[in-house]
Amino acid sequence: MNSAALEILKTVYGYDAFRGPQARIVEHVIAGNNAFVLMPTGGGKSLCYQIPAIVRPGMGLVVSPLLALMADQVTALRQAGVKAAALNSDLELDQRRALWRDIRSGALDLLYVAPETLARPDVLELLESLQLSLIAIDEAHCLSQWGHDFRPSYRQLDAVVARFSGVPRMALTATADEPTREEILAHLDIDEADAFIAGFDRPNIRYAIEEKDNPRAQLKEFLKRYEGESGIVYCLSKRRTEEIASWLQGLGYDALAYHAGMDKAAREANQMRFQHGEAVIMVATVAFGMGIDKPDVRFVAHVDLPGSIEAYYQETGRAGRDGLPSDTLMLYGSEDVALRSRFIEESEAPDQRKRMERQKLDALLGLAETARCRRQVLLSYFGDHCEPCGNCDTCTEPPKLFDGAIAAQKALSCIYRTGERFGQAYVVDVLLGAENDRIAQFGHDKISTFGIGKEHDNRTWRAILRQLIALRFIEVDLAGHGGLSIAPAGRDFLREKPPLMLRLPSPPRARRGKVARS
Ligand code: ADP
Ligand code: ZN
Repeated sequence: MNSAALEILKTVYGYDAFRGPQARIVEHVIAGNNAFVLMPTGGGKSLCYQIPAIVRPGMGLVVSPLLALMADQVTALRQAGVKAAALNSDLELDQRRALWRDIRSGALDLLYVAPETLARPDVLELLESLQLSLIAIDEAHCLSQWGHDFRPSYRQLDAVVARFSGVPRMALTATADEPTREEILAHLDIDEADAFIAGFDRPNIRYAIEEKDNPRAQLKEFLKRYEGESGIVYCLSKRRTEEIASWLQGLGYDALAYHAGMDKAAREANQMRFQHGEAVIMVATVAFGMGIDKPDVRFVAHVDLPGSIEAYYQETGRAGRDGLPSDTLMLYGSEDVALRSRFIEESEAPDQRKRMERQKLDALLGLAETARCRRQVLLSYFGDHCEPCGNCDTCTEPPKLFDGAIAAQKALSCIYRTGERFGQAYVVDVLLGAENDRIAQFGHDKISTFGIGKEHDNRTWRAILRQLIALRFIEVDLAGHGGLSIAPAGRDFLREKPPLMLRLPSPPRARRGKVARS
């Protein structure tokens, strides 16, 4: 390791050792290379550009989107003896003059700027007359047009970095799925080989995902393991948080509701109770999250499907900040999927955006339906990886797999024969040969696929359909009534008939005890 870097780590920051990939990144950039750094919030990204900026000759330029954030960083650095400053439009004229003088004289280690500031010709001209040690672009996902935080001012940074072509450039972010990642790398012309992705694993958190069968019974069973502990139960709607909270109160739990519809005082009071309480359960919508730093949250349950894998990761990540074993449970059902899909379809967003939201939902379903280690699937979404973890439900209770090729063929041909417009429940009824008026009315009791699926029960067929949807063999008509049709991948499957292993639904948790005893 570069000895100057280690020295700075100790004297300036007061840390004994680099954490995770920090050492590799710092060394890589000191050597003059570009870097893309993807690490979760709190992972320690700042050091990764600050130390090389100090070690390398010249001034480090840091692009940051928020004035307040910049001010905090600059104050902290100055207190540690680093010559840092922020160039922004708030400066008084004389302050600005003094700062320009410092910049020109080469007295600064680090200069923070807003992306808008870099659009100004006088600023660029000044910077071009100097030696830069590196250019670090913080919150780099802001340049992705498909991310949630897109900032047009970030788009022109490609031209800026191109003007300083010999200067190492770094892009740093905590949120980037595969397409966003690719966009950042391409836009800033950073090589795939310069990407550092790590630190997403939270080994003390256990992951479990179950089909939503009887959510109250499932939640009650889960909570039994955590009597006397604090945790969070996430719900999709405001109404549901209140219903679940009062139901839990009835069971004797100290449960509180939290959602954006409550008045500010009530919300803050509940947050305080949770923050300082001993065994408080917060039943909340996603509105609850920002700024919670309770270290001993022992469990997080999702009784409705979260919005995306990122949301799931963030929300479950509120458990176990103290590093002690913590537990999570996510329940999901077809209705959730349909509802989430409707949100997407009915939003005002442009088509491309909707397509991306749809992909995110698919990725989440893929996580829910996987037979692999949950942690592996979760981390691979962020580009990070691990061995099978032994601390998730699929590791400890491996799902039973079966050869699902025939079942998939039956399901797909049944969808085809019924005209690719009926929903899951109907298709399952036809597969099972159910006698009902609707099927008779459409004459589907006369078709070849009527009753060809009697080897599986209703529950198994629903699980099979969900997996085929997660595999994108089947498309769900979201604008309409959830009619199923065969997607291109499903057509490929029917043509090529490759082997296909599917998972059997696990018995519902509430009934599991009985099964084990009998
Ligand atoms: P990020 O920008 O990735 O959210 P920060 O750079 O703000 O994270 O770092 C998060 C916290 O971790 C800070 O309090 C920081 O001082 C601390 N930290 C960073 N690197 C180390 C390290 N090597 N050893 C100990 N603490 C560290
Ligand atoms: Zn696992």
